[in-house]
Amino acid sequence: MAQAVLLDGKRTAQKIIARLAAETGRLPKMTLATVLIGDYPPSRIYVGLKLKMAARAGLATRLMELPRNVAQEHAEQTIRSLAEDTAVNGILIQLPLPEHLDAAALTGLIPPHKDVDGLTAENLGRLVNNAPGLVPCTPLGVMELIGEYKLPTAGRTAVVVGRSHLVGVPLALLLGRKGTDCTVTLCHSRTRELAQTCRQADILIAAAGMPQFITGDFIKPGAAVFDVGVTRRDGKICGDVLFEEAVQVAGAITPMPGGTGPMTVACLIKNTVSTAELALQDL
Ligand code: NAP
Repeated sequence: MAQAVLLDGKRTAQKIIARLAAETGRLPKMTLATVLIGDYPPSRIYVGLKLKMAARAGLATRLMELPRNVAQEHAEQTIRSLAEDTAVNGILIQLPLPEHLDAAALTGLIPPHKDVDGLTAENLGRLVNNAPGLVPCTPLGVMELIGEYKLPTAGRTAVVVGRSHLVGVPLALLLGRKGTDCTVTLCHSRTRELAQTCRQADILIAAAGMPQFITGDFIKPGAAVFDVGVTRRDGKICGDVLFEEAVQVAGAITPMPGGTGPMTVACLIKNTVSTAELALQDL
């Protein structure tokens, strides 16, 4: 069987960044503030990438670094000061946080119009209501790739594996909303017959964080497969999809790396630029 089309996240992300750079050139200078707590090496790499892409898109950036053992109160004070700072357009808290911190309480301090990760209750509620708001970056990145490659969605079956508020739940909502019109199944660790369910999917999204568990027999021939999971195995970065098998069965597939990761970063920048418009709508 012919190999699948590669859904090139790196190239699509570069296109988005170039488009945003043209847009920010016409806007007053905008600032993305990132809060990095602790010294978890992957978080430092992700933050570095985000700052680089933000600068490429013409945004100013601010990095607030706090020590791993920072007190909740001190972390909250940092978020509050960014929330009040009129020069800051977007606030990102790099996850995961050290275990002693209450991530939901910290996220809750971000004003909805500065919530570039789309994780506040207000923005998630707006997503449910199909109202304008900031949508979590990884789900938005998948939707952008679907649009870029003009993958058909109306009436198609989509299966999302993983039900976090960061990835799975927003994706299920976006895929099922009017205008996209997929019929969506949301799977999780208690799903029975997972392989059989995945095999029904015209669009399959793997976001469980289980290295290479989506093998060829999980995939309907010709399906579009999006690998969101990122784990480390034997010092190497691994997706949820066993690419070598999947590429033989799928019709289209994201590579790992170079798929959903760069799209997440591009959508963070896109969200930051949209904050200007959303502030005008009093979000
Ligand atoms: P999470 O909060 O840990 O959620 C994982 C989800 O997967 C849960 O809903 C869990 O089910 C489900 N799950 C776990 N094991 C499963 C299994 N054996 N079968 C079916 N479902 C299973 O993780 P997350 O924050 O959503 O992130 C998911 C993955 O995406 C991680 O690897 C993360 O590093 C990666 N990620 C990548 C990007 C990117 O840019 N590519 C961005 C964000 C996250 P239960 O709810 O039942 O526990």
